[in-house]
Amino acid sequence: MHADGESMETVAVHGGERRPGPEGSAVYPIYQGTVYSVAPGTGYHDIPYIRLNSTPSQRYLHDKLAALEGAEAAVATASGMAAVTTALLSVLRAGDHLLASDCLYGGTHDFLTHHAGDLGWRCTFVDVHRPEAWAAARTPQTKAFLVETITNPLMRVGRLREIADFARREGLVSVIDNTFASPVNFRPLAAGFDLCFHSGTKYLGGHSDLVAGAVMGSAELIDRVRRTLNHYGGSLDPHAGFLLARGIKTLALRVRAHNANAMALAGFLAAHREVAAVNYPGLASHPDHAYAAGLLSGFGGMLSLRLRGGAAAAQALLDAVRLPLVAPSLGGVETLITRPATTSHAGMRPEDRERLGITADLIRVSCGIEGAKDLITDFDQALAKI
Ligand SMILES: *Cc1c(COP(=O)(O)O)cnc(C)c1O
Repeated sequence: MHADGESMETVAVHGGERRPGPEGSAVYPIYQGTVYSVAPGTGYHDIPYIRLNSTPSQRYLHDKLAALEGAEAAVATASGMAAVTTALLSVLRAGDHLLASDCLYGGTHDFLTHHAGDLGWRCTFVDVHRPEAWAAARTPQTKAFLVETITNPLMRVGRLREIADFARREGLVSVIDNTFASPVNFRPLAAGFDLCFHSGTKYLGGHSDLVAGAVMGSAELIDRVRRTLNHYGGSLDPHAGFLLARGIKTLALRVRAHNANAMALAGFLAAHREVAAVNYPGLASHPDHAYAAGLLSGFGGMLSLRLRGGAAAAQALLDAVRLPLVAPSLGGVETLITRPATTSHAGMRPEDRERLGITADLIRVSCGIEGAKDLITDFDQALAKI
C-alpha cells in the first residue's frame, strides 16, 4: 500500500511489494504451486488454490493492482473479457437491466448483444454525453451503468463524473473500463466509480506478451467479484501474473512516453495537408477536449485519423509506414497501426460502423514509446507516398 499523494512512478514500483520479500528477494517470485497445506476450518474461498485466486503470487499481484487504482481491493483475471464479464456477473441477476455506453470495446459490445439476453439481463445502450438519455433509459430494474474512459476508435470522453454521480444517486453500480487511459491518466474510483477494470493485456502489461485482466473496487464488491471468478474459473495463471507485475513497475514511465508521442504525432498529423481529420482528446479541435482536460491527467497514447484520399489512401499509408507494426490491439511499447473497419469492427454491419464514425478510411494508431521525432519522420515519408 502507498501513502496518498505519492506519484504514480513510485506507486508502480513499490505498490503492493513485500518488504522484505520472500528470502529477501527484491522481486516477488512465482509461486507456481497449486497445492498448499490448509489449516482445519478454512473456508472454501480461502483455500490457497490458483483457481480460487488465493495463492501467494496472486495475493501479491492483487495488492499491486489495488495500489495502482487507489482501491481497497483488486482481483486479477485471465483476460480483459474475463474482467468485464465477471464484474457484471457479480452485480447483475436475471431480470436486471443495465445501462451501457453506445460506444464500447467490440468484445464487450458483442458479449452484451449475444449473451446478456441468455442470462436474463436487459441492456440499453446510451449516449454517454447526454444525461437526459440516462434518466430516460433507467427503469426500476436497472442495476448497473457500464462505460469506458476513452472510447475506441474516436477517442471520445463521456461525461464520466456526471455518470458516477447519476449512478450513486440512482443506486446503480457504476462500472468503468479504464484500459485506454490507464491509472496514470485517470483514477476512476477517486472520481466516484464503484468498479473499474482493465485489459491488462494492453498498458498494464505493456509489452504485447501477455493476456490478463483486473477488477478494482471496494473490499466488499471485490469479494463478490472474486467469489464469482472462483466459480466461473477465469483465474490468472501465476506465470502471466509475474509478467503483469513486472510490466506494471514501468507503467508510469511508459504511459507518460505514450502520452507525449501521441500528442506530438497528433499535432503533426493535424497540420498535414493529406490528413482530413485527427481524433485525439489532447487536440483543441477534439469535441471533448475541454472536458477531458479537466478530467484526465494525460490524454493517452491512442489516436485515429482520416486521410483526404479515403480508404485507398489509408491502405497506402499502412503499406508505407516502416516503424509501426500493422496490427490490432494496443498499449505495447511498439507503435501499432490498423484500420478498425477491417479488423476490430469488421464484424459490425457497415451501416452501424458508419453511424459510429468507424468509416472505411479510418486509421487507428497505438503510439509506442519510440522517439517522437522518429515516428513523425516515418509518418512524413509514408504520407509523401500515398
Ligand atoms: C482489449 C480490450 C478489452 C479486452 O481485453 P482482452 O485482454 O483482450 O480480453 C476490453 N476493453 C478494452 C477497452 C480493450 O482494449
